[in-house]
Amino acid sequence: MEGSNFIQDFIVEDLQNGRYNKVHTRFPPEPNGYLHIGHVKSVCINFGTALQFKGHCNLRFDDTNPAKEDVEYVDSIREDVKWLGFDWEEREFYASDYYDLCYEFAEQLILAGKAYICHLKGDDVSEYRGTLTSPGKDSPWRDRPAQESLEIFRKMRAGEIEEGEAFLRAKIDMASPNMNMRDPAIYRIKKVAHHRTGNKWVVYPMYDYAHPIGDWIEGITHSICTLEFEAHRPLYEWVLDEIKAAIDSGSYTPSQKMPDVLPRQIEFARLNLTYTVMSKRLLRELVENNHVLGWDDPRMPTISGLRRRGYTPSSLREFADRIGVAKTDSIVDIQLLYFCIREELNKSVQRAMVILDPIKVVITNWEEGKEDVLDTENNPENLEQGTRKVIFSREIYIERDDFMEVPPKKYFRLFPGQEVRLKGAYYIRCEQVIKDSDGKITELHCTYDPASRGGETPDARKVKGTLHWVNCKDAVDIEVRLFENLFTLENPAAIPEGKSYMDYIDKNSRIVKHAKAEPLLAKAKPNDRFQFVRHGYFYVDKDSTQALVFNRTVGLKDSWGRINSQT
Ligand code: ATP
Ligand code: MG
Repeated sequence: MEGSNFIQDFIVEDLQNGRYNKVHTRFPPEPNGYLHIGHVKSVCINFGTALQFKGHCNLRFDDTNPAKEDVEYVDSIREDVKWLGFDWEEREFYASDYYDLCYEFAEQLILAGKAYICHLKGDDVSEYRGTLTSPGKDSPWRDRPAQESLEIFRKMRAGEIEEGEAFLRAKIDMASPNMNMRDPAIYRIKKVAHHRTGNKWVVYPMYDYAHPIGDWIEGITHSICTLEFEAHRPLYEWVLDEIKAAIDSGSYTPSQKMPDVLPRQIEFARLNLTYTVMSKRLLRELVENNHVLGWDDPRMPTISGLRRRGYTPSSLREFADRIGVAKTDSIVDIQLLYFCIREELNKSVQRAMVILDPIKVVITNWEEGKEDVLDTENNPENLEQGTRKVIFSREIYIERDDFMEVPPKKYFRLFPGQEVRLKGAYYIRCEQVIKDSDGKITELHCTYDPASRGGETPDARKVKGTLHWVNCKDAVDIEVRLFENLFTLENPAAIPEGKSYMDYIDKNSRIVKHAKAEPLLAKAKPNDRFQFVRHGYFYVDKDSTQALVFNRTVGLKDSWGRINSQT
């Protein structure tokens, strides 16, 4: 058996050589913000890999930083992972579930001479740590007796020591070329309530210490994470090896039975996308400073934003699949994301005619009061979706920008004297332009050719332009929201010196139009999707209660497929 990426190759190897006899992964979000498109990649890798090997994947909330975390985020993360189509069954865990175990192991490390209480503060800690090019030096407390450290650690836990006065460090190697191994902090005092454990704890384990323990107790085999943790892997292994050695030597029996095998950490490159920032800190800033209208603003790269914009779970999974898994950082073209949703919707979605910026056309040779009922295709890509009836009469709307009074060369849309086809209806010719006293065009007066019914050429004469249209009398008023990339900077990692992300926000990234739609849309319900002919794919917004509101999911123009078919 062969894997389809390097992670799967490792797993296949581990199964073949007997290191593990099952596959168990976990997705470990920190509940300090909403999940984003980068997390989609991680969710798909973790849950997808487990599915592939008929194993399991846990959902673990990494809630080791009580100050920044909130239940709102826990709820949204659950909802988003489910919506993506993955199931953690009853295996929902929290790093805070293991605080007792982490504490117990910490005492054990102290007794074994593998951890000590240090009282260095702020600048001194950094100074003692050394730099990338020079070794650190030992803390003055490094060799204090284990019993002394233990007593202080217990006082810390009892709340008898103030924040910053003491912390627990692993005793590893202050001269290690890997800074993470220079006696890293593993427990610190934080006198804040935790969203799950309340006031039970005033000491909290560090992520690098709690994470391997969480993986181990849950029986995780493959702890898949992003590349920035590569340099933390030696610490991950140190924590596990030291505790396991104490247990194996018989000198210590933990209060809980630990799995026999230790987990293995594997790193992959995180997703970066053009025109997109993904750090939760920055996303939170966008929300808190009202640069967007919430975490689920359709311009946000959050799962909730993408969902509201009209992305489907399958299109996001397809995207995750197409970007693949690599070991080196790169940046993915956002057009690929657009391509994935467009491809999917093209096959299935009902077409409708909508005029975003209407101008009225009066057909002067059409009898007043006469109506014609025309058949129009629901989806030319899928004829099984049938046809629907649309009414055509004397007054219709077309797009304001489908008309030019003074057209440039090769302009095939409407201008005075020019003939165009109205989609599925008739040919019309512009005879007269009506303006108000400010010179703004208010109406176009046209004539039609009765022989061109259905938009067919009556006498083989060439009419190049085809415009979509909406009948005035039964038009439905709708609100349409159009979106552009929130950021104008193509590569967010290449932000120039002295500039902030907020300098690159596109103020016109959300545009609201009051549009005229064919009557079909009056029946649109939340979650419905349509292709508005010539405008793109649209999704009914949750604001659609009194008035109908549609979000543009994506436009029709495909620059990704085009670029990639040329190469
Ligand atoms: P951020 O920097 O956006 O806050 P994070 O890494 O702190 O992200 P976590 O909640 O800790 O976010 O992430 C949960 C999991 O998702 C981790 O395993 C993390 O490596 C992974 N992850 C986060 N961002 C990305 C990304 N852009 N691409 C792939 N995986 C990611
Ligand atoms: Mg984080």
